[in-house]
Amino acid sequence: MAIRQDDNRPTRRFGIVNLLLIGFGVLLLFSNFLPNPATQVPRVPYSLFIDQVNDDNVKRAYITQDQIRYELTKPPEEGAPTVLSTTPIFDMDLPQRLEQHGVEFAAAPPKRPSFITTALSWVVPPLIFILVLQFFARRSGMGGGAQGALSFTKSKAKVYVPDEESRVTFADVAGVDEAKTELTEIVDFLKTPQRYMDIGARIPKGVLLVGPPGTGKTLLSKAVAGEASVPFFIISGSEFVELFVGAGAARVRDLFEEAKKKAPCIIFIDELDAIGKSRSGSMGVVGGNDEREQTLNQLLTEMDGFTAQDKPVIVLAATNQPETLDAALLRPGRFDRQVLVDRPDLSGRKMILDIYGKKVKLAEGVDLDKIAQATSGFAGADLANLVNEAALLAARAYRTTVEQADLNEAIERVVAGLEKKSRVLQPDEKKVVAYHEVGHAIVGHLMPGGSKVAKISIVPRGMAALGYTLQLPTEERFLNSKEDLEGQIATLLGGRSAEEVVFGEVTTGAANDLQRATDIAEQMIGTYGMSETLGPLAYDKQGGSRFLGGNSNPRRAVSDATALEIDKEVRGLVDRAHDRALAILHHNRELLETISHKILEKEVIEGDELKQLLASSQLPDAAVLEGAAA
Ligand code: ZN
Repeated sequence: MAIRQDDNRPTRRFGIVNLLLIGFGVLLLFSNFLPNPATQVPRVPYSLFIDQVNDDNVKRAYITQDQIRYELTKPPEEGAPTVLSTTPIFDMDLPQRLEQHGVEFAAAPPKRPSFITTALSWVVPPLIFILVLQFFARRSGMGGGAQGALSFTKSKAKVYVPDEESRVTFADVAGVDEAKTELTEIVDFLKTPQRYMDIGARIPKGVLLVGPPGTGKTLLSKAVAGEASVPFFIISGSEFVELFVGAGAARVRDLFEEAKKKAPCIIFIDELDAIGKSRSGSMGVVGGNDEREQTLNQLLTEMDGFTAQDKPVIVLAATNQPETLDAALLRPGRFDRQVLVDRPDLSGRKMILDIYGKKVKLAEGVDLDKIAQATSGFAGADLANLVNEAALLAARAYRTTVEQADLNEAIERVVAGLEKKSRVLQPDEKKVVAYHEVGHAIVGHLMPGGSKVAKISIVPRGMAALGYTLQLPTEERFLNSKEDLEGQIATLLGGRSAEEVVFGEVTTGAANDLQRATDIAEQMIGTYGMSETLGPLAYDKQGGSRFLGGNSNPRRAVSDATALEIDKEVRGLVDRAHDRALAILHHNRELLETISHKILEKEVIEGDELKQLLASSQLPDAAVLEGAAA
């Protein structure tokens, strides 16, 4: 194994290999007085040895399991022996003491415990020895110690051999039907490779699962292994990356060695981006990246070199940042297939809830459809978490089944973080939060956008939200009109507008609203081409370039004049929406007061009560609204 001399990586990156080599060198140095049965070395008491160390009279020491042999700097008298030995005793401070007094010291590798007679001499000396080793390990700034040093090239992959009971199949994975369809083919490759070979087809080696975290990529790959009844190796990309140069590459080698023995099988690499980041893009970020680069090269070599078609090893890898991957990974013969594992839609969420709902005791009449409707944007893992939270809530209340209310409360927990009753708002703050949230609710109720306001709360939750207005979509929507989006922006600005209408000033509470409103406005202009003056052009780049690497400039090359125009249009959209929100709130000023007073009393308003209250809200005349908007 080569030792790399690298200028920008000084002693911090003191690899174990270097350490071992230095240790070896020291051993050679000491070899002239290594234990040798032919020569008798005078034995002295341990206390004398310590005294001599304290007097800085010990030059170097060699520690084995049953004796410490050491050399004096100068003998007590002319002609006296300079090499002495003593019997080690249990002494935790020995390594530090030797270090303090500038003694060179080394330890011999442990002997097989064959000649040891007493329990004491069996336990104590190795302890000292381990202490010395640990001391070395700590000094060079790596935690692993002796254990890590010996096992660092072994792959840490866990192997699952599916048996009938623990087998995961496609039936256990819901809500990702498109991905399932694509992976069915992989199952077929693993089951009957011969059929494909006979016709001369090349079985794919790598499949990349792309999707946001928590969408069940690991479960899906386990299901592929389960369906095909083949062993399944699982490892995370980050486990390849180690402090020691060459360890990651050795692990990749080891992993493929193991896999080939068990072929046909599946290797699943989670977080592929940890090793597969684009080499060009990451240059100069933290200095030497050669460890990761070596690991990546080894992975590519293994994938290219593997040709045994009758016993395929298929590598499935997961990532949520496909755009950062090195282009070399995506070439034909490597991860040339990409399967999108996206967040589930309404029916997918229903199926996932059904699966997890079976694992807890649900009360009669629990309507999981409603929960599925209210959890737009949840990934599979979030839904699992939700059901578990609901079960915890039910158990805490000494109920034996999970009720609808538990599930509803769990949604809010997962959405907004855990309820923090302990956080107390000052009365004046509470008032601001109340008007702010009611502002959202009134504007949201009157504006188009397909969502109905289901709940207003001024109970602080989580880290950021001091209060919130919960809007439930009445149906799953994939398309939004320009009007809908403008309505959403106005709703987001409703909170801040209410503060302006009532208090004549604004607080910091609206920062997140503004962020989201601006995002929508930018997308309308840049992505959806909804500007009349700029025309149906997409000014933001999306899609293709993200998957194939390359430059990541989000906006196309546009002239300065166009850039100015885009900014103007975005500004105009937000301004118009703000004016609308203000007009609506001025027009419904009384209702704003009524609801705000009510919520200050009750902290939460929802359901029919909220519906009735909001029913009396009115849109101002179109002329007023448009006048405001113009
Ligand atoms: Zn707000």
